[in-house]
Order: sequence, then C-alpha cells, then structure tokens
Amino acid sequence: VKRAGGNDLRFYERTMNAASAERLAMEADLRHAVERGELLIEYQPVISARHLRPVGAEALVRWLHPRLGRLPPDRFIPLADETGLIAELGAWVLCEAARQARAWLDAGHERVRVSVNVSAVQFSQPRLLEVVADALRRSALPPACLVLEITETSLMADVESAAGMLRALKNMGVQVAVDDFGTGYSSLSYLKRLPIDIIKIDKSFVRELCENDDDAAIVRAIIALAGSLRLATIAEGVESAGQAEVLRLAGCDFLQGFHFSRPTPAAQLVL
Ligand code: C2E
Ligand code: CA
Ligand code: CA
Ligand code: CA
Repeated sequence: VKRAGGNDLRFYERTMNAASAERLAMEADLRHAVERGELLIEYQPVISARHLRPVGAEALVRWLHPRLGRLPPDRFIPLADETGLIAELGAWVLCEAARQARAWLDAGHERVRVSVNVSAVQFSQPRLLEVVADALRRSALPPACLVLEITETSLMADVESAAGMLRALKNMGVQVAVDDFGTGYSSLSYLKRLPIDIIKIDKSFVRELCENDDDAAIVRAIIALAGSLRLATIAEGVESAGQAEVLRLAGCDFLQGFHFSRPTPAAQLVL
C-alpha cells in the first residue's frame, strides 16, 4: 500500500466512522422524538381549481431536533423506514392529522379533507389497517375525509399485495391518492387494477409547465387519462399563477403549491 493510499484510506475510515456515528445518534434521537414531542406537522392547503378555494390540506411532518434544528422529512423518514421506527412515527402523524381535520370540521369547514403520506414500509405492513382505524375512531373523523397518499413506487413494488391493502382501506371508506405519479417508470395497467381515487401529478412535470411543451403535453395526457378512468387529479408544486391557469384550463381538479401557500402550522393556517 502506497503512503498516499494509506492516508486516503485512513481519511475514508474516519469519515465513514463519523457518518455511521451520526447515523446511530440520529437513530437514538428519533427513537424518542415522538414521546418528547419533537415532531410537528405543517399543513399545505389543497385548492379547488374551479373555485380557487381550499378544500383540504396535506400533512407534512417536520422534526425539531434538539441539536440539528428543524429537519425536513427527507432527512429522517428514510431512517425511520430502515429502523422500523416509521410504525410509531406514522401512527402519530395519522392520529394528529385526523384530530386536526376533525377540528376543522367542528369549526364549520364542511367536507374538509386531510391527506397523509404513507411510506413504502408502512404500506407493506398489515398493521397499517389498525393504525388507520384507530386514528379514525379516536378523532371521530368521517373516513371519507381522510386521504392516504401512497407513492407510485410503493404501489408497484408488489401489485398483488398492494391490491389487497387498498381494497381493505377502501372498505374502511378512506380515499387513496397515487403520489409522485409519472415518476415510477411503471406500466399504466395498474391503474385499472387498483382501487384508487386520486392521481397526484408530480411537481417535476409542473415546474416548467409554461416553458416546456413536452411537460405541458405530459400533464394534459395525465389529466385526460385520469378523467377517462374517473380519477380526480391534484397538481403539486404549483408556484405561479401561470401554472395554475394552464392546469385549470387543462381540467386539473385540485392545485397545491407555494403559489397558494407554503406548508404552515395549523394554528397559523386559515382554511
Ligand atoms: P411529497 O409527498 O411529494 O410532498 C411534496 C413536497 O413538496 C413537500 O416537501 C412540500 O413541502 C413540497 N412543496 C410543496 N409545494 C411546493 C412548491 O410549490 N414547490 C416546490 N418545489 N416544492 C413544494 P417536504 O415537506 O419536504 O416533504 C418531502 C417528502 O417527505 C414528501 O414528498 C413525502 O414523501 C415525505 N413526507 C412528508 N411528511 C411525511 C409523513 O408524515 N410520513 C411519510 N411517510 N412521509 C412524509
Ligand atoms: Ca404527498
Ligand atoms: Ca408528491
Ligand atoms: Ca415526493
């Protein structure tokens, strides 16, 4: 081994050790995050494209980490999935979001809907059904007011068991949305085999909607497809009035994005 190579190797080992120590520390912290009340949910309004009024909101979890500060979900949901902590974390988000939706109903907002993200691991676990039933029972939220967002990738991982899980969820009366639609390189045949209600058009197709003819064509095709399958459409990542107008004219049902509202704690949100 050359001297320089040896140094590189030692450097590599040191950074790897630092990385895995950081990971272990994060895992230990995440284990206590729920009980210590460090998680919070922000809500991003979902807007009716036709009336330009909010009809509900998506729950997006954040972690107020004691040392690292406020962490976005991409920094800890994958870790929660790998360690199994997602079960507890996901149950907390579901209960909390259902309770919040019930509060909006009680405040006079008729037919409000709350959308909750379900990770791939959560979706593969049969206990999800009990967790959802429990959240509905404890909040007394009508099941039709709850939308579960499941990514196209997790639906495609095992279409047969996905079908079973979705049928059970539909029997409970909740709604199902396919999240990140169009990013999964999947065949479209699953759309007719799975009982879903809503397609969420991924924000990667919305970003350059007004500049890029191909993106505009893809978005129109998705909306047409959804229409013929009698599925509703939500476009995510809407950042400008121009994008909102193109989507509305194309027949998209619901809009979501910074143009209307950033994700916001419920206390500061007017729905
Ligand atoms: P997602 O479900 O695709 O959520 C949309 C993401 O886009 C959110 O990021 C949201 O804040 C962001 N966003 C909203 N409007 C705009 C916009 O106009 N422009 C742009 N560029 N972005 C916008 P966030 O909150 O960081 O969440 C990231 C991902 O983390 C989510 O992607 C979802 O997959 C996951 N996630 C969030 N909350 C939960 C949760 O409670 N449970 C699980 N399992 N996953 C969650
Ligand atoms: Ca989502
Ligand atoms: Ca999405
Ligand atoms: Ca996403």
